Amino acid sequence: MKIIRSAKEVVEYLQKIRASKQLIGFVPTMGALHDGHLALVKRAKQETDFVVVSVFVNPTQFNNASDFEKYPNQIDKDLDLLSAAGVDCVFVPTVDQLYPQKSLLKFDFGYLEHIMEGKFRPGHFNGVATVVSKFFNFVSPDKAYFGQKDIQQVAVIKAMVVALSFQLELVVVPTLREESGLAMSSRNQRLTSAQFDQASVIYKALTRLKNQLLEGGDFNSLQQKESCELEQKGGFKVEYLELVDASTLENVAVVESGEYAICVAAYLGDVRLIDNLVFIAE
Ligand code: AMP
Repeated sequence: MKIIRSAKEVVEYLQKIRASKQLIGFVPTMGALHDGHLALVKRAKQETDFVVVSVFVNPTQFNNASDFEKYPNQIDKDLDLLSAAGVDCVFVPTVDQLYPQKSLLKFDFGYLEHIMEGKFRPGHFNGVATVVSKFFNFVSPDKAYFGQKDIQQVAVIKAMVVALSFQLELVVVPTLREESGLAMSSRNQRLTSAQFDQASVIYKALTRLKNQLLEGGDFNSLQQKESCELEQKGGFKVEYLELVDASTLENVAVVESGEYAICVAAYLGDVRLIDNLVFIAE
């Protein structure tokens, strides 16, 4: 497995791979890897000839300094996991490689910036789009893999790919969960073992909501009830709990026919967890 730290080197190295007509699959990550990340790698390996993974904790997408400082870092373990998963190349740039000067770019993703993650993490998607567009320029992948767990990130990246005419295909991979239903996340490492058990309540609430919506329930009243339960019984601090159209992410009150997502963000102690459940109603 080739490990590259310089942007210039990754460009030159991948030019040769492209010249040999190999399809390049790209999986951007912030490290602290778990089986969810490895599901993206596995899919990339099935669908492309040469898999590149980036490991970079992007400072410009953190709106909270302490979240950035506490973000887990385990690069040696990550490299072992990626090598065992059969990854061909890992790009591990320094901050200076990606940001030789202060980033001046400002994206405008319209309403996507003002709902859910956008509302509670101002500037977050600007940082995500900036770093992902840089990676797309360096790696020039044929296919890029993203997790459905970050459903709003997927919507933003889709919009960015169209706006900037990136010539690649986005592949969205379903969320990998612990046996308890808890969505795998690098931030789960920061939970105590009691909190780790408690956090599975989020998925249970999402599943309950889905079932009640499919039985014709009204989201506004269900939302209040589930938020209260999460807060009072579960010990969470809920930031949002929304029912949206799964493709536009616009709010919906009742389920008719189509694809929907129930999206949630909540703190357990000082760890912020997000999750969503996508479902089809007929
Ligand atoms: P991160 O390192 O958290 O920035 O995540 C890197 C990529 O892995 C993103 O596209 C995430 O959506 C995806 N990802 C994170 N957790 C999961 C999971 N539990 N299942 C599937 N994909 C995930």
